[in-house]
Amino acid sequence: MSSENADAGLESDEPVWDVVVVGAGPAGASAAYAAAVAGRRVLLLEKAELPRYKTCGGGIIGPSRDALPPGFELPFKDRVHAVTFSLNGRLTRTRRSKRMLFGLINRPEFDASLVEHAEKAGAVLRTGVTVSRVEQHGPAVPDRRTVAVVLNGGATVLAHAVVGADGSASRIGAHVGVKLDQVDLGLEAEIPVPPTVAEDWKGRIHLDWGPLPGSYGWVFPKGDTLTVGVISARGEGAATKRYMEDFVARLGLAGFEPAVSSGHLTRCRSDDSPLSRGRVLVCGDAAGLLEPWTREGISFALRSGRLAGEWAVRIAESHDAVDARRQALNYAFAIKAGLGVEMAVGRRMLAIFERRPAVIHGVLTTIRPAWNAFTDIVRGSTTLAGLVRTHPLARRALNAFDRREGAARTTDPVAVPEAADAEAAVEAEEADHRRAGSPE
Ligand SMILES: Cc1cc2nc3c(=O)[nH]c(=O)nc-3n(C[C@H](O)[C@H](O)[C@H](O)COP(=O)(O)OP(=O)(O)OC[C@H]3O[C@@H](n4cnc5c(N)ncnc54)[C@H](O)[C@@H]3O)c2cc1C
Repeated sequence: MSSENADAGLESDEPVWDVVVVGAGPAGASAAYAAAVAGRRVLLLEKAELPRYKTCGGGIIGPSRDALPPGFELPFKDRVHAVTFSLNGRLTRTRRSKRMLFGLINRPEFDASLVEHAEKAGAVLRTGVTVSRVEQHGPAVPDRRTVAVVLNGGATVLAHAVVGADGSASRIGAHVGVKLDQVDLGLEAEIPVPPTVAEDWKGRIHLDWGPLPGSYGWVFPKGDTLTVGVISARGEGAATKRYMEDFVARLGLAGFEPAVSSGHLTRCRSDDSPLSRGRVLVCGDAAGLLEPWTREGISFALRSGRLAGEWAVRIAESHDAVDARRQALNYAFAIKAGLGVEMAVGRRMLAIFERRPAVIHGVLTTIRPAWNAFTDIVRGSTTLAGLVRTHPLARRALNAFDRREGAARTTDPVAVPEAADAEAAVEAEEADHRRAGSPE
């Protein structure tokens, strides 16, 4: 069944699905895969026809690669070995690595391939179907073990558990009551370029720390097309657009007509935001799960999607509300213990970056251990949270910056020595690293 009109034509003897997943992006495809692999009857509902476009850089870092289903072949358009950093167009410096840092994909192809994996595992896909809401009580719900998923057009699908993976404007997130503490606007253009320009970018990305607090821009090369984008806090639409135009012009790309220009919001949950309500779980962008500093979200979607699929299976098996609640709390605990910790460190990094982009730029472009940490994080051999947890000097530097920012906000006179602490910590780390010998 693949059109909105077909919604109304759902059979009245439609089964009660074990798990219905709403949205077939990376979060939904992962959830559907995890629940289907566990042998459950899974229905995946997607409003678009696939493959569909998604505004996204398509950067696949190590944690995304590691969260893919077994046997999944990444359709890389390029492999990144170098990063050019700039500070609002100035102080440009390129750092290179012999080993691949991360890969770049086109989302339509990547997402469609993830959905195929879910289907091969047994999930049933229906595209062109928009979910308008879910109901957990009322006439559409036959018993307390069942949720009604109401489609545009009025037809209803029944499930013992529902996973909301319907992206940053999530209707299921609204049902669950997801709370946000950060919303950003991303603008992006897919720019086809001639072979000489494409050759210049091959294997190299560009990251520009932008003029608005917390903003940055990127160029991600994908063969004959460059994905160019900027992101900044929502509410500065005109300034964000101007940054995008300036960035494209500075790169010498203003003369090339974009094949696609689009914008999309990214949303980060607040710490106390719910991840479930009754038999309904949320994951990925729908739950506001996203790295707050870089706004990297594919790995968050894949990882939370998988967990949501696994716990939805247990909720589907629950015979009473108490057990369903226990399973939902287990899901929330797993998210908070993993992605929640990463988000907390990301928020601290964003706070520093918003106030001191030049420090971030200087550290990454001149301090070798900081570059090595960046390469470790994007390759997936550690996370920012892991680095801060296991590396005393990284922790001290972050704490010192935190204290300094707190002090600066309250004009506490201890701000200056604490800033000196941070710099000393970074310098000591660099000296340590020089003694240990640098891998790259
Ligand atoms: C400009 C920009 C650049 C980015 N670059 C990167 C990057 O390089 N790397 C990275 O890791 N992350 C990046 N992100 C973040 C990343 O795109 C998202 O975090 C990721 O797509 C989240 O996946 P998801 O499955 O949760 O949601 P989505 O990918 O948004 O998928 C949600 C799906 O649900 C469907 N849907 C929505 N509503 C309904 C409904 N009512 N009924 C049925 N279906 C519905 C949609 O059609 C969609 O297919 C970027 C984001 C932006 C805005």
